[in-house]
Amino acid sequence: MRELREIEPLGAGQVRCGGKILLNFSGNDYLGLSQHPAVIDRARAYLDRYGAGAGASRLVTGTLDIHEQLEADFAAFLNREAALLFNTGFQANSTLLPTLFDRSSLILCDRLVHNSLLQGIRASKAKFIRYRHNDLGHLEQCLNQSLNQKSNQNLHQTDKPYNRIGIVTETLFSMDGDRADVGALVDLAQRYNAWLYLDDAHGVGVWGAQGQGLAALYPEVDVTIVTLGKAFGSFGAIVGCSQHLKNYWINTCPGLIYTTALPPATIGAIQGALDLMPHLDSERIYLHEQAANLHHTLQGLGYTTSAEPSHILPIRLQSPAQALALAQALEDQEILATAIRSPTVPPGSDRVRLTLSSVHPPAHYQALTQALAKVIPIIHIAPCPNNA
Ligand SMILES: *Cc1c(COP(=O)(O)O)cnc(C)c1O
Repeated sequence: MRELREIEPLGAGQVRCGGKILLNFSGNDYLGLSQHPAVIDRARAYLDRYGAGAGASRLVTGTLDIHEQLEADFAAFLNREAALLFNTGFQANSTLLPTLFDRSSLILCDRLVHNSLLQGIRASKAKFIRYRHNDLGHLEQCLNQSLNQKSNQNLHQTDKPYNRIGIVTETLFSMDGDRADVGALVDLAQRYNAWLYLDDAHGVGVWGAQGQGLAALYPEVDVTIVTLGKAFGSFGAIVGCSQHLKNYWINTCPGLIYTTALPPATIGAIQGALDLMPHLDSERIYLHEQAANLHHTLQGLGYTTSAEPSHILPIRLQSPAQALALAQALEDQEILATAIRSPTVPPGSDRVRLTLSSVHPPAHYQALTQALAKVIPIIHIAPCPNNA
């Protein structure tokens, strides 16, 4: 039984939770922009100037100059021809994919992709195959197998086996913190004439020059999803794409057409964050340094974590009970690090996920390291329940 927990943000990576002050190592506010004065000021300025709501959907009267400006700036930032705002990443993924693929299409997706991508893939009714996590050899094998099968079924060998092939993956995986090889994916997509749809929710802001993310270097990527509730510290999503695709979606995508445009205060916060983003290199360097240190510490203490460091560091455990026990033990040490259990992750891959932020001073990272050292016996003694 999962329950909602109330959190009071106190700034600098601290929260009040259950009457205690904890260091928050579970949020996605990787650069602390949700509390940044320039972001808050811009949100307030847009609120004062434009009011509380956009007043309509984008195609009716909800497109303000600030929506258009933000999209133009994002297209430049992401190195794309165009960009299109969505109200959430969930809404973008679940409603964009069915406009690109149908029951005559084939989609290959990483086995660990985010639920919003699966919702979109299922809704498209395309044939879909989940390849082994980050295993591009397996991806290519799946491609070859389904293309061969399909052309054997086809009486008319001249027919194309599928009307369209899509490859769908995250760039930096939200639950594992490991990265897909975007260059190799681009290569593969080109060779098989497949569309490449990348969800860069956790790459953007933290990785790439000026925080452009993991897809900006590759103009061949057809669709890049950027969510704005993570490193951008506010809310919403932006899709980097061609002008042609943008026009198509303005005419066909229900998740854009049948919903109220993002409100001015949110647009202000996003614009404020975007204007700051290129200037946050020292924050990014600090974050990567802390990630590397912590990764080293985790391995040294005998925890099972990701192969490579990133600002998302999972601690893999044997059971949901162990994950809960470790999260509780850390909380007793004033560290907030939540347990992530099935079905959010596959059964048997329960974990505590640490997410880092540049707002934590070195003292917070030291406190985290000390707590991790202190609680390590917990994961060896927690019993495994029968119903795990
Ligand atoms: C958070 C997330 C989403 C959803 O974005 P929201 O804007 O929060 O709805 C989509 N994809 C991935 C990989 C995410 O981590």
